[in-house]
Amino acid sequence: MEHIIRTDREDQLIDITAIIREDVRRSNIKNGTAVVFVPHTTAGITINENADPDVVIDFLEILRKLVPKSRDYRHLEGNSHAHVKASLVGSSCTLIIEDGRLKLGTWQGVYFCEFDGPRTRKFYTKIIGS
Ligand code: ZN
Repeated sequence: MEHIIRTDREDQLIDITAIIREDVRRSNIKNGTAVVFVPHTTAGITINENADPDVVIDFLEILRKLVPKSRDYRHLEGNSHAHVKASLVGSSCTLIIEDGRLKLGTWQGVYFCEFDGPRTRKFYTKIIGS
């Protein structure tokens, strides 16, 4: 399924776990896998804690320090930092579905990662039965 997501900051993590859960529910697939894929080169997907919102803030801050926005980059579009961050987090994740439910850890959530926003973005989910 294709999902449209609107980001409102330059860099941002958006919890999309509930959207994936809803896709699993609507698929009627009880056992299998859910693949989440982001078709962008300056955005990505990661799984991390969704209980304490400070985890996300710390994560973005560390990434900003690791990959500074201004540097002697060759890519003239001005968003090299966002391309690097996108590759660091990756552009997909695979989740296990068991008894109709996502088999995530208690504190885990799936995040859409914006690194060159704000923009209108897309991500895809594919629910596969086994
Ligand atoms: Zn670029």
